[in-house]
Amino acid sequence: MSTESHAQRLIFEGTRAVGVEYTTPQGRRTARAAKEFIVFGGAFGSPQLLQLSGVGPADLLRDLGIEVVRDIPGVGENLQDHFNSYLSYRVNQPITLNDIGNSTTRQILAGIRYVFTRTGPLTGTGIYAGAFVRSDQRLENPDLQINMSMWSTESRTRSGIVPHPFPAFTLSPVHLRPEGRGFVRIKTPNASDQPAIRFDQLRTEYDKSAILYGLHLCRRIAAQPALKPYVVEEILPGPAVQSDDDWLEDTRQRGVANFHPVGTCRMGHGMDAVVDPRLRVHGIAGLRVADASIMPSIIAGNTNAPSIMIGEKCAAMILEDAA
Ligand SMILES: Cc1cc2nc3c(=O)[nH]c(=O)nc-3n(C[C@H](O)[C@H](O)[C@H](O)COP(=O)(O)OP(=O)(O)OC[C@H]3O[C@@H](n4cnc5c(N)ncnc54)[C@H](O)[C@@H]3O)c2cc1C
Repeated sequence: MSTESHAQRLIFEGTRAVGVEYTTPQGRRTARAAKEFIVFGGAFGSPQLLQLSGVGPADLLRDLGIEVVRDIPGVGENLQDHFNSYLSYRVNQPITLNDIGNSTTRQILAGIRYVFTRTGPLTGTGIYAGAFVRSDQRLENPDLQINMSMWSTESRTRSGIVPHPFPAFTLSPVHLRPEGRGFVRIKTPNASDQPAIRFDQLRTEYDKSAILYGLHLCRRIAAQPALKPYVVEEILPGPAVQSDDDWLEDTRQRGVANFHPVGTCRMGHGMDAVVDPRLRVHGIAGLRVADASIMPSIIAGNTNAPSIMIGEKCAAMILEDAA
């Protein structure tokens, strides 16, 4: 086992994976596998490693001077994620998590309450209510998830989240079945350089209409009798945003991928497929991928449990194949 290490590239003999080069705090190392390699770098890391190793779209690899081990055009393509935007509402009572985030006294009281009674705001995730709804009643299954969070953010950057300096909550529609397909493509042959990551949200008419339905629905929810007595004003995006064009423009500015990337080493049999149903990379011996990247299309729900399931299923298949 080698922790704090970063895989640089896989080593092949012909089309068989036989080794891996990786860096550690002590320097560069090489390891060989007795039987096979399992790559599980996630929807960004797995296609990056395969491409760096010569397994991927031949044109991309040749342009970067990487020797092509196997031309698999689908490596890095088919990137999908859920997509969401959000509406935030200022409320008239200090009963939201903003008020705890902005007050040391309330933080201490919430901590004491949790320690002695195991109750209170620290027992929750911050998302207090949710719904799965259909953006079009003709759909068989929900394609939108609505999250209601008892906080709102003034800014959200790499260094952290800053809550608004007043009580507020947030309603967020999440598009669960987006049609947009993006990509992950290395830009250099160097493993420490970030790859290009491009999502393709809000391109199709369905992707636009689904998120628009969710945004309008959230505004209707905030106006319901149960919430109305608390709501002072809509602070994001604010009442100036009314028409569908306004909403789309605002969503282009503030909408975000939902941290659920999948699909970049797609499982299947077609020309774009990367792994077969037993997660073996097509045309390569001794190499499987087992993470969210193998999902052919994104599931309409959170991705962590399915990713764990993919790992468990891969382990079971390795044992079956070894028997
Ligand atoms: C902020 C955030 C919040 C989330 N919240 C939820 C949630 O509430 N519910 C939910 O269901 N899902 C959630 N997710 C999504 C969930 O975490 C992912 O779907 C899941 O972890 C995917 O698992 P994975 O094994 O495919 O990839 P990962 O968990 O990303 O694991 C890949 C690992 O490989 C490592 N790696 C990559 N390349 C290399 C390399 N070359 N060498 C060595 N190591 C490498 C990475 O550092 C990483 O540790 C969230 C994700 C994020 C980022």
